[in-house]
Amino acid sequence: MRRSPRPAPLDAGAARRPARFGPGPDLDPDLVARLQAICASVSVTDDDRVDAGRDWWPLSAVWAHDGTAPALPAAVCRPGSAGEVAEVVDLCSRSGVAVTPFAGASGVCGGSVPVHGGVSLDLTGLDGVVGIDADDLLVEVRAGTFGPDLEARLGAAGLTLGHWPQSFDLSTVGGWLACRSAGQYSTRYGKIEDMVVGLEVATAAAGLVRTGGTAPRSATGPDLTQLFVGSEGTLGVITSATLRVHPTAAAERRSAFSFDSFDAGLDVCRRVLRRGATPAVLRLYDRSESARNFDVGDGCLLVVVDEGDPVIVDATMTVVDEEAGRAGARRRHPELAGAWLERRNHIPPIADLVAAGLVVDTVEVAARWSALAAIHRDAVERLHRVDGTVAASVHQSHAYPDGACLYFTFAGRAPDPGRPAAESYYRQAFDAVTEVTRSHGGSISHHHGVGLNRARYLPAALGRSLDVLQRVKVALDPAGVLNPGKLGLDDPFGTVSVP
Ligand SMILES: Cc1cc2nc3c(=O)[nH]c(=O)nc-3n(C[C@H](O)[C@H](O)[C@H](O)COP(=O)(O)OP(=O)(O)OC[C@H]3O[C@@H](n4cnc5c(N)ncnc54)[C@H](O)[C@@H]3O)c2cc1C
Repeated sequence: MRRSPRPAPLDAGAARRPARFGPGPDLDPDLVARLQAICASVSVTDDDRVDAGRDWWPLSAVWAHDGTAPALPAAVCRPGSAGEVAEVVDLCSRSGVAVTPFAGASGVCGGSVPVHGGVSLDLTGLDGVVGIDADDLLVEVRAGTFGPDLEARLGAAGLTLGHWPQSFDLSTVGGWLACRSAGQYSTRYGKIEDMVVGLEVATAAAGLVRTGGTAPRSATGPDLTQLFVGSEGTLGVITSATLRVHPTAAAERRSAFSFDSFDAGLDVCRRVLRRGATPAVLRLYDRSESARNFDVGDGCLLVVVDEGDPVIVDATMTVVDEEAGRAGARRRHPELAGAWLERRNHIPPIADLVAAGLVVDTVEVAARWSALAAIHRDAVERLHRVDGTVAASVHQSHAYPDGACLYFTFAGRAPDPGRPAAESYYRQAFDAVTEVTRSHGGSISHHHGVGLNRARYLPAALGRSLDVLQRVKVALDPAGVLNPGKLGLDDPFGTVSVP
């Protein structure tokens, strides 16, 4: 069984100390017995409850440093089949008990933190490939399958999904779908929402349902598959997915360029994409990240990698060369792209940074090309104005014909010691990037999702359409038990005060 690590050590004793959120109500022993009758594995051990109570939200590393868990479920259920998932969801719905799905727990927004206790639903028991259709280029895979296990099966069949999030080793298919994840090669292969063609989902109101997946396109009403993509465990529990795959790449090419300004680099990315070229990786770093990550001291580094059919790769890289040359970019050694490839799944040492007194996080946002330069400028400036900031930087990480993702990193020392000051610094820094992005018409998240951390921004971000989402939530989850407190939805268990 594959288990993913957590960002900072936290001993089982945390289960006997007050958690940051909660406590939730005790579970009726009769309900625990009924859960045990459904699932082979139902745990109430301190170890399992502490483990299920947290994810990779960097603020939880600050809490772990003083021995505090974010939250604690009363029980952790580990179903082995979609039917068992559906039965647990049904029982919790009829009993009014919160049920919070999790798998890799690599989410960075507190999405799987069980803020109202209840049941944490560990989906990693639902793993493995159901079937591969090499002619139609489709795979059906269970939701709790981790990235390396899926790619190993596909690779043996000469195929790849092409989904390579930095957290590839830590995360699962269901988590990717629930959060609208982006792999680092999304410019070539798309985000996870572009890859999915069908789902199996356990809902509270309608039981186990299947959406899409039977034909390449369909005009049989709205796309219900996409309703669940990005729903972060609030509308149903994804139990399996049918995804598009690709032949393993026959060729790969790399290049690198540097620019005098971030804006000039952005404009080259835009021009490459409008010509129809989609290099798998087109990442542009500001001066600070170019120096820190690549030892490039003369400007903003653009790293380019493409893979696929050799004819298409050559044509793509020719377009990149032409556009970079036209803009007067300096050609750099292609092994700068190799250096990026080697480190692309590096896991940041969050616990060490927290131990050194730093509060750190990244904020990924998306916007049209016309807004990116202003968001970059204003957000970095606002981050530097937050009292305590010691570093603020950005890179453009995923690019599309209509815009791109800007990925900000901040690090700061709270002006005063103690947890409240750290939380206050964190909130101000996150608010700074979010407010700037919204003021320029951008989206407040490109791929990390909303979870707990961003729930407060959803009314402003979605406007009246949050009301539509709320009505869908009530229809599918009438008791409101699925992952309460998340995605800015009404919370029948009471409002959670988030730092
Ligand atoms: C170092 C690091 C790098 C990262 N890099 C990337 C990146 O490059 N791209 C990217 O997109 N993300 C990245 N992330 C974020 C994270 O890996 C993704 O959000 C990932 O999709 C979460 O998958 P998971 O299996 O860990 O889900 P979890 O963290 O367990 O859950 C995340 C959310 O999904 C819900 N959920 C999980 N499984 C299901 C299911 N089967 N049905 C319904 N709801 C479910 C949970 O309730 C929760 O709300 C990174 C995280 C870390 C720590």
